[in-house]
Amino acid sequence: MKVAVIGGGIAGAELIRVASPCPLQFTLIEPKKQVEMQALYPEYLGGVARLQDLAAPLKSFCERVGAVHIREKALSLEGNTVVCEKSRVEFDYVVVATGAAQNYFGIRGVENTFSINTLEETKRARRYVEDNYPERIMIMGSGLTGVEAASILAESLDASIYIIEAKDRVLPQFSPQTSQLVEKALSKKGVNILTSTEVAEVKEDCISFTDGSCLDCDMAIWTAGVKPSPFIQDLDLPKKNGWILVDPHLNAKGNVFAMGDCAWVEVDGKLATKTGLEAERQAKYLAHHFRNLIKGATVEKYSVRASTDSQVALISLGADCAVGVVGKTCIGVPTRLIYSLKSWIDKSFIKRFK
Ligand SMILES: Cc1cc2nc3c(=O)[nH]c(=O)nc-3n(C[C@H](O)[C@H](O)[C@H](O)COP(=O)(O)OP(=O)(O)OC[C@H]3O[C@@H](n4cnc5c(N)ncnc54)[C@H](O)[C@@H]3O)c2cc1C
Repeated sequence: MKVAVIGGGIAGAELIRVASPCPLQFTLIEPKKQVEMQALYPEYLGGVARLQDLAAPLKSFCERVGAVHIREKALSLEGNTVVCEKSRVEFDYVVVATGAAQNYFGIRGVENTFSINTLEETKRARRYVEDNYPERIMIMGSGLTGVEAASILAESLDASIYIIEAKDRVLPQFSPQTSQLVEKALSKKGVNILTSTEVAEVKEDCISFTDGSCLDCDMAIWTAGVKPSPFIQDLDLPKKNGWILVDPHLNAKGNVFAMGDCAWVEVDGKLATKTGLEAERQAKYLAHHFRNLIKGATVEKYSVRASTDSQVALISLGADCAVGVVGKTCIGVPTRLIYSLKSWIDKSFIKRFK
């Protein structure tokens, strides 16, 4: 049975790793030569993580598990064929795991800022920091990525760091207690927090806001929001808000499955967050699903762990402080304990592919 997996990020690579060895013939379609751990990008930006900590080569991994790696972009699905840039890959089942794209919300000048959404972008941002010693850095967006980047930069650079958020608190997707705890930790590190502040335009050396004010800046980093990629927009599959809508078995339609950031996974009223934690769990679930398919056995439905109304996260706020969140409970630990745990979990994920 031939299974094509489109996207070799956390979800796609983990699915193949967990399902192997098995009689299924996996083909991984992924243009990048390596699997990357995005959760470590803020540490790389801050000069803490090394490249080898956050990426592992897909060639040797695929050879080891007997999968084929096609280093191309998938362009479309035509019946039981994935049409790639140069090749065509036939499948009995296909799994779409192509992640999400950066959302600039149509704000003028934002697409010219720095971002840490991909490793290439993060490397570009790090090089800029090393070569130009920016004195005022504005981080737009205060989700997980924004707060982690702000704290690590505040700790590692002699610069004024600003975090800009349109809503009235940082980490608006988390509980107010978590936001309070994180705001306190950021302030202690000297990060300037501007909430209820909406960016109108990013110019070469300043950012202007919708209230007419503006602030000078030497470096602007956009971390606010993701959207469905053009690839999934064009697929003829059920959608919810542009994401691939899957059933409780992560099935989109017929022999097409989807998981991770590109999918809308809602089971028993719990909507999965777009996090590495969920991507990894969904991959493990589908690996189990495929093993059962071979045996002709059925599987239980997927169970969401980190949902939008009950978050599960480890938020690292520099080298000496982190916040652990499980549902309504959040614990701030002003020591290396949770920080070290998170860093260890993220690095261990990559080591599995080496
Ligand atoms: C800076 C940052 C920090 C984060 N921190 C955390 C954290 O601390 N904790 C946490 O749980 N989550 C975190 N996340 C979120 C987490 O990284 C994502 O939820 C997770 O990577 C999603 O996995 P995925 O496999 O769905 O997508 P991805 O890991 O994005 O992988 C998608 C892959 O698909 C490939 N692809 C895209 N289009 C195509 C195509 N047309 N054809 C073939 N391949 C394609 C891409 O090249 C990519 O390799 C963070 C994200 C970022 C950006």
